[in-house]
Amino acid sequence: MSSVFTKIINREIPAYIVAEDAYNIAFLDINPLSEGHTLVIPKREVDYIFDLDDTTYSSLNLFAKKVAVAIGKVTKKRIGTSVIGIEVPHAHIHLIPFNRMSELNFANPKLKFTNEEFLEIAAKIREAFG
Ligand code: AMP
Repeated sequence: MSSVFTKIINREIPAYIVAEDAYNIAFLDINPLSEGHTLVIPKREVDYIFDLDDTTYSSLNLFAKKVAVAIGKVTKKRIGTSVIGIEVPHAHIHLIPFNRMSELNFANPKLKFTNEEFLEIAAKIREAFG
């Protein structure tokens, strides 16, 4: 069965997509630690990020850098990265805007945004990504 993220890639379920290229896609995390918290994933469905072949891994990380720069322009914050992967078995990098280290703690309560708020931040990041 495809992962929930493959369903997003295939547009079978909705997501707030902020960037895409031939091999990767980025969309807002629906349970964000901060505004602009984004997931970057390879289109190839592989569970564990360190099982990715070198080409896919490199492509993912270069793509994540471009997305992080766009998020930084919009949020005016530094972007932290995390790789966890205990919930969704499809490799992904979390890009998390932050000011204080405590904001990067995954044990923190997740923020709630309305659909309109998610749409607005996604549109801004898309525009900054170019
Ligand atoms: P982890 O696998 O532990 O890195 O966590 C998976 C992350 O994916 C969590 O932060 C979830 O909020 C996020 N997530 C799960 N399903 C979706 C979805 N349909 N759209 C956006 N983010 C999701």
